[in-house]
Amino acid sequence: MRRRAGRYLGRRPIQIKPPRGVLSLSFDDIPASAWRAGGPVLGAHGLKATFYVCGGLAGGTNLDLPQFETEDLQALYADGHEVGCHTFEHVSSLAISPRVLEASWARNAAWVAERLDGAVMDTFAWPFGDCALEAKSGAARRFKLARGVRDGVNAGRADRTNLQAIGLESRRIPGYDFDALCAEAAQTNGWLIAYGHDVSDSPTPYGCTQRDIERLILSAKAAGLEILPVSRAFDRVTG
Ligand SMILES: [Zn+2]
Repeated sequence: MRRRAGRYLGRRPIQIKPPRGVLSLSFDDIPASAWRAGGPVLGAHGLKATFYVCGGLAGGTNLDLPQFETEDLQALYADGHEVGCHTFEHVSSLAISPRVLEASWARNAAWVAERLDGAVMDTFAWPFGDCALEAKSGAARRFKLARGVRDGVNAGRADRTNLQAIGLESRRIPGYDFDALCAEAAQTNGWLIAYGHDVSDSPTPYGCTQRDIERLILSAKAAGLEILPVSRAFDRVTG
């Protein structure tokens, strides 16, 4: 019920109208492999992605996988990738008050600025895709946009506080036709956003292989999509 409220109510409509369709690639939480195995695929294609960071996960483990080290974050940022906010503690907005969420955003912002030479994160990904209605106005104030995890191409009117995204996740990938999704983004002048987690030959249900990333990139190129990190894509799609 509360998930549906966050989806249907409190929308901040934007018109998606890029000169041509756009794809954005993003990685949440940042398992170490997202950068160490995903980065080379992006690099081979000369592409930049968005990495949604929780300062509180640095150097830790999640789903038995090592998370990024501060040096990974610094390396990807130095390489020109976008760093976006994913709360400090990786907490669901449905589990905390807007005030506590604001504090988490502020703590993550300070943590990142200290390590990335004053960098300011201007896009946000809802942890677990959980978008609480009462948290949307705060997200709209602090960020250009917030990204969820609901499938689909963003086209026409979209809610900038809960943008749709497909999962580069082994549990979801079999249900997708990358060529068809990219063709849809091209035909509608839409914006396809993908998010993943770990990257390896034996990914978790929430991760993918290097080949999966490669397949999506090739589909996007074949469809003539422009491939941009989320923040820059937002500027492009909103003119
Ligand atoms: Zn996450």
